[in-house]
Amino acid sequence: MNGLPKLVTSVVELRKEVAAARARGQRVGLVPTMGALHEGHLSLVRTAKAECGFTVVSVFVNPTQFGPNEDFAKYPRTLDADRGLLAGCGADVVFAPASTEVYRAGHSTMVEPGEIAEPLEGQFRPRHFRGVATIVLKLFNMVQPDAAFFGQKDYQQSVVIRRMVADLNMPTTIHVCPTVREADGLAMSSRNRYLSPDARQQALVLSKSLQLAGRLVADGERDAAVIAAKMKDLIGTAPDAQIDYVALVDPETLQPVATIADRAMAILAVKIGSTRLIDNWLLEARL
Ligand code: AMP
Repeated sequence: MNGLPKLVTSVVELRKEVAAARARGQRVGLVPTMGALHEGHLSLVRTAKAECGFTVVSVFVNPTQFGPNEDFAKYPRTLDADRGLLAGCGADVVFAPASTEVYRAGHSTMVEPGEIAEPLEGQFRPRHFRGVATIVLKLFNMVQPDAAFFGQKDYQQSVVIRRMVADLNMPTTIHVCPTVREADGLAMSSRNRYLSPDARQQALVLSKSLQLAGRLVADGERDAAVIAAKMKDLIGTAPDAQIDYVALVDPETLQPVATIADRAMAILAVKIGSTRLIDNWLLEARL
């Protein structure tokens, strides 16, 4: 149980491992990641292991989901440490292919996720979800998992993937698991390691503004513009914060809401210096 998960780098070997698990009668779970693992990822792995006997964790920094001026080259790559962290969580296989194994010479087919990918992140990272949907579909075809596990931290991503799975009649069950936070509220992210101690402190305005939104709704505020304005004011107290978006949206369609009628998602992307962070919080209006 506590041994290192098997490291697999080729699709052929991956399929052998999965076929052997199926022959043993095990269900197969997949947790797609880009590595630089933290407790947020590990919580997904533990959930996957509890749901499915056989758990594959993919570690692949997917080039097609990064824009030309984004952090693909400097994204942290820490495979040995990742494998060590996974040892205690019951992962059976770490699938860590080279780019050339995933995108073979001549690769040209991409998944176009459509309008659900257009707002929010789509406005700032125009081809991001095309890359995400493509790699997730490819991983699903490589592993053919019964279930796959994603974090609410990347909320729009989870909606895009659910949409793709429904639209393309894919048989994999999608689980979206709660965001794991540091003790002070900061959502765990591989990109947090870019933050200097001062920026790390400033980054608390993301979770604090979301908590403020939650308190305002609990106190009876229903006007989305009022809530967003107060969130922006709070974020503005961090000297190096630059807001990409702060929005209150319908949790299913991701379209803006004017009034919190029942449930709304508060969702934001903020740069602290050069580090871009995202977070979200479900707002529930109880009568
Ligand atoms: P990434 O390696 O950042 O692409 O993330 C891989 C998976 O882990 C995605 O499904 C993320 O939503 C999920 N994840 C990342 N951070 C967290 C977190 N703090 N809590 C829960 N899930 C997370």
